[in-house]
Amino acid sequence: MLRRTASLALVVTAWAVTCAAGCATDDLVDDPADDAWLDGKADGATAVDLAAIDLDVDLSDLDATATIALEKNGNVALEVGGLTIDDVVDGRGHRRYKLVGGQLRVANVRGPLVVRYRFSTHAMADGLLPGGSTVVWPYFCGNLFPCHSRPADGVRFALHLDGVPAGKQAIYPPTIDSDAPPYMIAWAVGSYTRTELGTTTAGTKVAVYSLPGGLTAARTGTKHLRAVFDWYERVLGPYAFGKDVASVSVVWGEGLYGGMEHHPYWHVAKDAMADEVTHAHEAAHGWFGDGVRLKCWEDFVLSEGTVSYLAARALAVTGGATLERQVWAEYQRELDDAIATGGAPAWPTGCNQIDIIRDDLFTNLPYMQGAFFYKDVAAAVGVDALDGVIGRFYRAHKNQPASMQEMIDAIKRDTGFDPTPIANARLRARFGPR
Ligand SMILES: [Zn+2]
Repeated sequence: MLRRTASLALVVTAWAVTCAAGCATDDLVDDPADDAWLDGKADGATAVDLAAIDLDVDLSDLDATATIALEKNGNVALEVGGLTIDDVVDGRGHRRYKLVGGQLRVANVRGPLVVRYRFSTHAMADGLLPGGSTVVWPYFCGNLFPCHSRPADGVRFALHLDGVPAGKQAIYPPTIDSDAPPYMIAWAVGSYTRTELGTTTAGTKVAVYSLPGGLTAARTGTKHLRAVFDWYERVLGPYAFGKDVASVSVVWGEGLYGGMEHHPYWHVAKDAMADEVTHAHEAAHGWFGDGVRLKCWEDFVLSEGTVSYLAARALAVTGGATLERQVWAEYQRELDDAIATGGAPAWPTGCNQIDIIRDDLFTNLPYMQGAFFYKDVAAAVGVDALDGVIGRFYRAHKNQPASMQEMIDAIKRDTGFDPTPIANARLRARFGPR
């Protein structure tokens, strides 16, 4: 995600504990172990991880079927806080389930778990938006499909949309064939024009989807995008999410700015479509944030700081010295604003103890202190040497979770330069009044 200036206002729902409608139905499969689970004696931490989610969505009546492959058979706890559950089936038949604290709990699941459900439109950047696109970052996937929102739990996806309004197109990947964070999957529905931007050295087709009246802005913002994507592939390593990629213009409401890393068709707000940094930033998330996932929410800077630096680096190489100066001058203004505003340190200690929204980690500090952290390191070790470190890190952790500490260790190991003092000054320090 690329945020600019404003803050995200989100409503956090207080979940109620309810018994599912299916509890009293006669033909449900049950077993003795269900009772401990359904009585709340087992918790979500003991539940199995997800391997793949296949979503079949009908937009005409907002209902869907999720077929979920598990890492292994066992107790399943899925986030479903914004969904109405109609039926749950596994290899044994219709299953008892319980809704507890926004979770769907099913004991001793065998084989794929099939959940039929309904969902609704959300106005606060937390599900299907009125503008026709979806966004579930950071932990709102349970408003759109049954999920685990922890980014470390990577999952493969399949997606199929029916009921797309006449005259409009739905832009989405039919499959995501390597592990991705749960917030990566999305769709966008609109009256789109696709413009080809060319093919990279590795054979990836790069395009841009614009909305009516938006073609000029789209062309301006994607002037270097094919070359930028080519640079990421050549310097960092092979892209993980297919051979066809695009920036997609979306209409967002209040609370979202810039873009969102919905690879391979990442979203860019209609009013940011002329901004080259936004396109380069979201494209770079294919390598960090999506390609390498966050081990903990506290590692947010490994996603946003790294891609902010990579966007500046790629635009410098492909766009020249004037564009490079413009990007860093804008980053400096944003850093100054972020320091004045404050928030959580760019890289808080701990693991999944912070709430990224409520505890103020979602400010511009991780983005800009992160970018300047790498710029300071590059000044010490050389930009090409740092490119090499970041590329090796990507290839070592591709489609797996990783931490910012691992990046700092990699810089020290590969270059002999210890960036810890820079990290302490920029990333661990608290700034501003809040
Ligand atoms: Zn971002």
